[in-house]
Amino acid sequence: LYNELIEMKGNIRVFCRCRPLSSEEIARGCSSVVDFDPAQDTELRITSSDSSKKQFKFDHVFGPKDDQNAVSMETLPIVKSVLDGYNVCIFAYGQTGAGKTFTMEGTPENRGVNYRSLEELFRVSEKRNSIMRYEFHVSMLEVYNEKIRDLLADSSDHLSKRLEIKQVADGTQDVPGLVEAQVGSINEVWDILKNGGRNRSVGSTNANELSSRSHCLVRVSIKSESFVDGQKWRSKLWLVDLAGSERVGKIEVEGERLKESQFINKSLSALGDVISALASKNPHIPYRNSKLTHLLQSSLGGDCKTLMFAQISPSSADLGETLCSLNFASRVRGI
Ligand code: ADP
Ligand code: MG
Repeated sequence: LYNELIEMKGNIRVFCRCRPLSSEEIARGCSSVVDFDPAQDTELRITSSDSSKKQFKFDHVFGPKDDQNAVSMETLPIVKSVLDGYNVCIFAYGQTGAGKTFTMEGTPENRGVNYRSLEELFRVSEKRNSIMRYEFHVSMLEVYNEKIRDLLADSSDHLSKRLEIKQVADGTQDVPGLVEAQVGSINEVWDILKNGGRNRSVGSTNANELSSRSHCLVRVSIKSESFVDGQKWRSKLWLVDLAGSERVGKIEVEGERLKESQFINKSLSALGDVISALASKNPHIPYRNSKLTHLLQSSLGGDCKTLMFAQISPSSADLGETLCSLNFASRVRGI
């Protein structure tokens, strides 16, 4: 049992990533409140408005100078374990504008974790093709106001279709009816993710606003077969760009916005509760408190691997939200 618990603890990692100050922030006179120790890639220090300093420790800290390659170096070894049968969940958490989408999706010039993960899976599966056969299916969905939307369904379909989480025969959770696109190459994946991303903005006048208020999940289902002993198994990789964690201002909290932010708070705190319960070896894991955690139930805990990116802004103007995110991430890490 002791070994099991150690294993479980070792399966939850929290990385912190701080983006650079934007030119607009510099123009407005914002300064950086985040300090990095060049000899230490697991610590950072925040200077509060009263000049007091707070130190935070994570499994890895990426500063403004660390590019997508630096992030890949630490992330892809975890991703690769899905090819050995582990389930893996990767989350990006933080306020809107802190770099969640940059880390997960990236840009065409600076591709992020989603693309690089798939690229790595194809690379390794190619290398193992004399002893293993792998099959990859990609799904993409959004959780908005505790409702699940299929981002790969035909656009006429995807708003009307009601998707629910069901327990399937092997005891894991699934979403019957969700489109699963079989993919054989990285180029196919790129197109699929791009199309899925387009579906995200439908129904909103402002694409950015809606996307910051919903969770976007990419699911890669892997079927593996060993030619050596004929063993077959399935595993899943989840890549999750979470809704913005910011607390909404007092003025705007009305009607639809209020409902949205309550749903976001509920699901983000449910996620924090689940991961910290796992990290602190609590026997009761409250998966059922939100669609997000229910959906991920069979990929969180046990010998599944979890990685959370706590994304922060360096700007003095965002200090309050940054401290909230760092506190959340520290709690998730179980310390
Ligand atoms: P979020 O998804 O958390 O709302 P974004 O990923 O959209 O935030 O990032 C906000 C802006 O900052 C974008 O213009 C993005 O390109 C830029 N950005 C974020 N992280 C980095 C980074 N590490 N390096 C350079 N630019 C970044
Ligand atoms: Mg985003």
